[in-house]
Amino acid sequence: ALTIGIVGLPNVGKSTLFNALTRNNVLAANYPFATIEPNVGMVSLPDPRLAKLAEVFGSARILAATVSFVDIAGIVKGASEGEGLGNKFLANIREAEAIAQVIRVFDDPDVIHVDGKVDPSSDMETINTELILADLQTIEKAVPRIEKAVKLKQREAGELNAILNAQKVLERGDTIFASVKSDKLEMEYLKELSLLTAKPFIYVFNVDDAVLGNPERQAELRELVAPAEAIFLDAKLESDLVELDEDEAREMLEMSGQEESGLDQLARVGFHTLGLQTYLTAGPKETRAWTIRQGDTAPQAAGVIHTDFQRGFIKAEVVHFEDLMEAGSMAEAKAKGKVRIEGKEYIMHDGDVVEFRFNV
Ligand code: GDP
Repeated sequence: ALTIGIVGLPNVGKSTLFNALTRNNVLAANYPFATIEPNVGMVSLPDPRLAKLAEVFGSARILAATVSFVDIAGIVKGASEGEGLGNKFLANIREAEAIAQVIRVFDDPDVIHVDGKVDPSSDMETINTELILADLQTIEKAVPRIEKAVKLKQREAGELNAILNAQKVLERGDTIFASVKSDKLEMEYLKELSLLTAKPFIYVFNVDDAVLGNPERQAELRELVAPAEAIFLDAKLESDLVELDEDEAREMLEMSGQEESGLDQLARVGFHTLGLQTYLTAGPKETRAWTIRQGDTAPQAAGVIHTDFQRGFIKAEVVHFEDLMEAGSMAEAKAKGKVRIEGKEYIMHDGDVVEFRFNV
C-alpha cells in the first residue's frame, strides 16, 4: 500500500500529529467509499491547479489527491530483538512504502523524554539502530540460502555480492537509503529482502515557535538527516489548526510565521518521496487529481480510475494544464492544436489533463 509509516520514540508527538492527520476530515467529507483502518490518517495534497481547472469546467466539486499515513506502534530500544510488540512493529513498518520519523525538538519540562534529554541526533540514532539491527538479521538469515543457490548456479554471484555490500553498510551503522549512491548499492538485488532501512525516509522535526522562526537551527537539523528530506512543524499547533475554519487557520498559521501548514508540507514531501505524481480529470461534476507513479503509462493511469478503463483502453485525449490555462478553454486548446491523442505507450506527465477513451 502507498502509505507512509510514522515512527518515533515515545513522547515525541506522534499521537498528537496523528490526531491532526485523522481529524482533518479529508476522508469523511470526500471519500465516503474508502475503507480505512483506524490507524490510517490522510491528508490531501495541496494543488492550486485544481481550483483553476474547476473554474474552467464549472465543476461542482474538487477532489484532491491524498497521502495516507499509518501510525506504527512506538519504537523503543530493543525493538529489533523484541517479542510481541517488537515483531508487530516490524511487520507494520515492512508494509509501509516510506518511513516518516518524528523527532522531538520542542522543549517542555512537563513532557518527559525517554532518554532524559532532548537530543535529536541521539533519537535518530536510537531508531536507526533498531531498524539497522532488524535488517542485519534479515540479511544473516538470507545469506546461507543465497550462497547455496549461487553454488548451484541458480543465482548470479552478483546478487550475493550486492547483499554482502549492503551488509557492510549496515554493519558500519548506516542505513541503506542514505548509502545507495555513496556505496553504489544495487537496489534491484536487494528488493526481495524488503529491508526496512532501504525505504525512503522523511524526518519530521516536532519543534516549538523558537525553531519555526529560526532558519539557522533548521539548516543544522536538515544537515543532520541529509540526503533525506526534513519537515519542521509544531504538532500541537497542527492539531489546533485542523479544528479551525479555513480563515481562522490561515490567520493562526501566519502568526506562527509559516507559509504552509505542517500537514500540507507532510503531504507534499511524502508524495514526492513516494515517487508519485498526479494527473487531472475535469468536467461539470468534478475536478479531480489522480495519483500515479512517476513513469506510469496512459493505460496504467486509466486503471487508477477503474480497472475496466485500463483493460479496454483505446486512447487518451491529453492537454497539459499550463497549455489549457493559456488557451482558456478546452475548445480553444483544441483549436490551437494543444490537445493530443495519445496511445498505449504514452508516459504520463504531472499535470496532464486527461480524458480516456475505452471499450467496456
Ligand atoms: P507520542 O508518545 O510520540 O505519541 O507523543 P504524544 O503525541 O502523546 O505527545 C507526548 C506529549 O507531548 C503530550 O503531552 C503532548 O501534548 C506533548 N506534545 C506533543 N507535541 C508537542 C509540541 O509540539 N510542543 C509541546 N510543548 N508539547 C507537545
